Amino acid sequence: MNLLTIAIDGPAGAGKSTVAKLVAEKLGLLYVDTGAMYRAITLKALSTGVSLKDADSLVKLANQTHIELRDRTEGYEILLDGKLVTGEIRTPEVTAGVSEVSAVPGVRLRLVELQRAMADDRGVVMDGRDIGTYVLPRATLKIFLTASVEERARRRSEDLNQRGYTVNQQEIQADIERRDNYDSTREFAPLAVATDAVVVETTGLTVHQVVDRIVAMTRPHVL
Ligand code: C5P
Repeated sequence: MNLLTIAIDGPAGAGKSTVAKLVAEKLGLLYVDTGAMYRAITLKALSTGVSLKDADSLVKLANQTHIELRDRTEGYEILLDGKLVTGEIRTPEVTAGVSEVSAVPGVRLRLVELQRAMADDRGVVMDGRDIGTYVLPRATLKIFLTASVEERARRRSEDLNQRGYTVNQQEIQADIERRDNYDSTREFAPLAVATDAVVVETTGLTVHQVVDRIVAMTRPHVL
């Protein structure tokens, strides 16, 4: 069977998860939010007192952690060792620590194994940083979503505001820049544009315009 697999990569705040979720819905595919998995490991490290600088303990922790992603009609849910952590993984503390955790090769190897297993027998839309370059190198379609850093900071601030956080857009922009820099300069599976990816610049486009563009690109593969 030829499964449709769509990889959506890009820097922080480019709108990957919103777009990926809608594309998955339109095409009847499973949505996999890989960032949520790195966030869940970070949350567990922070709440169990494991230092984010202790790579060996982080790998041990990742290997002993059960992460489940559930795509429900009520919304997308993340379970960490059976406990719902959908909101908790998006706190500023987790966001500040996640790039350090995700740079640890052993943590990545464990999560990549889980990610590949999810795409084994189902068509998926998977979003992250290394999906087209490392996790699913044979994906049917690879998209690299991007937007100016100012636009990404504005969107992220709006999103956090709506979820009840009072935020400073300049601080959000600084955090995005710091994370992008960390994610694209790490040694193992850094954030990069796959050579066969289509770059979609989303500044000035609505979410629906981006989604329609991506869905249109899949047409030659589903006919
Ligand atoms: O996508 P999101 O912003 O939730 O990702 C949080 C962090 O997880 C990123 O900044 C990056 O450090 C890490 N990440 C990663 N590889 C992925 C997905 C996310 O390193 N495939």
